[in-house]
Amino acid sequence: MKFRGGYNITLQGRPSKKVKILPEPEALYLPLESKRFDFTSIYVEEGQKVDTGDVLAVDPGNYDVPLLSPRAGTVRLSSTEGHIVLEDISTVDDVPDYDKDSIPHIARQMGASGEMRHKLLALGAWQFFRDAYTNELPDPMGTPQAVIVSTLSLDPFTARGDVQFKNRLLQFTRGLEYLQSMLEYQPIYLVIPKSRTKFHDKVKDQIRGYAWVKLIEVPLEYTRTNFNILARNLGLKRADGPIWGVKAGGVLAVDRALTHTKTSLVRIVSIGGPGVKTPEHVKVMAGYPIARIREQYAREGQMRLINGGFFTGRMLGEDEIGLGVEIAGITIIPEHTEREFLGWLRPGFDRSSYSNAFLSTLRGKFAEKFTTTLRGEPRACVSCNFCEEVCPAGIMPHLIHKYLYSDMIEEADAARVDLCVECGLCSFVCPSKIELREEFIGAKVFIEEEKAEAEAQRIKQEEAVQKEQERRKESSEENLY
Ligand code: SF4
Ligand code: SF4
Repeated sequence: MKFRGGYNITLQGRPSKKVKILPEPEALYLPLESKRFDFTSIYVEEGQKVDTGDVLAVDPGNYDVPLLSPRAGTVRLSSTEGHIVLEDISTVDDVPDYDKDSIPHIARQMGASGEMRHKLLALGAWQFFRDAYTNELPDPMGTPQAVIVSTLSLDPFTARGDVQFKNRLLQFTRGLEYLQSMLEYQPIYLVIPKSRTKFHDKVKDQIRGYAWVKLIEVPLEYTRTNFNILARNLGLKRADGPIWGVKAGGVLAVDRALTHTKTSLVRIVSIGGPGVKTPEHVKVMAGYPIARIREQYAREGQMRLINGGFFTGRMLGEDEIGLGVEIAGITIIPEHTEREFLGWLRPGFDRSSYSNAFLSTLRGKFAEKFTTTLRGEPRACVSCNFCEEVCPAGIMPHLIHKYLYSDMIEEADAARVDLCVECGLCSFVCPSKIELREEFIGAKVFIEEEKAEAEAQRIKQEEAVQKEQERRKESSEENLY
């Protein structure tokens, strides 16, 4: 498979392979909103006692995907805005209230495959799936044209596939078998690292004889595991139907749901970055208080906590009290409150750059202590072309930036800003500190909205014309009598 662009940076604070279990907190704060989900239908009441695995709320806009209770406890609905709080929590093993007899219509229409899909949705495993092109939750009862399973995470710092896998290769392959049994003839592409490692050999050994699995070996470079890019490189067209993308943790959740009828309420989350005391992977449930993570992991001084990886994560806001259901990593970076005097000019030994601008290029590869400082001032595009070199989507970020800067929206659309996979590499390498990724995210939304509005206008006009034609026909018929 031939890839475009891509780039690796080495940052300080890479979590070790060991997975630590975090101590139980006194309360859990479950956010009602995450990147993809909005749990607006609340199923519980103030003061209600719930068990582990009970449904607290569902997202009606996403096939009623449930927000499950990670622990037994007492519900508080109004104590923390935007969250369901669980107090007096205890670790009773989950006995999910799953009743397959409640879905006779699914069993009738889709047989065993429908029952399995329903079980995945009810037990929280379906949340691990996404559509490769849209990133949205796929229809659990839909038919994909293919499934892409990735064993890797290359965005620093999100939980690594080999860590998720540790000692669970058998469960993983069983999960793959379940996936295959839910499909008809559609292929499963399994993404593994190209480099010969123990992990690579183990996976290959384990799936030997699975003719329905197509192995895809990718170099260990950011953005090689982006589902959108993989789908495009595999020649899977968006118009031919959904493509399910799922990572190792999701396949393990499938196994847990279908083998043991159990929920996957605990996530493996990486805590890394230059602002972390001891970078590590932790086993933690949704709702875990962010303040406790800050206390335990952030170094002294002002630190910024980012929900997600270094390139694509989002700063955790003051109003976010607990970990969300989709969390895969927390990146902690020292906050710079003072502007660096002539930062762009100082040829530091301690900073890396895609260009050869800094003396540090003489040091060879080193783990950089990255901070939130801009390290320079924003300025106009200098046409260095770095953004185009690293872009995995094969578009010209500098050109699109110039179009957007001049409000030439149609030209930006024609230059295929829609192909941007929001990886953030262009913004990272840009020596002029232009926020290209943010610009393109905004432009994509704007263009989509404009197109939807134009389409709505077109339909309205067509309906008006049709109505007018019908009216004229009716009145000419009346005149005949
Ligand atoms: S954010 Fe978009 S434009 Fe920038 S490098 Fe990634 S895919 Fe290309
Ligand atoms: S990397 Fe920045 S300065 Fe260089 S061409 Fe792209 S937008 Fe312009």
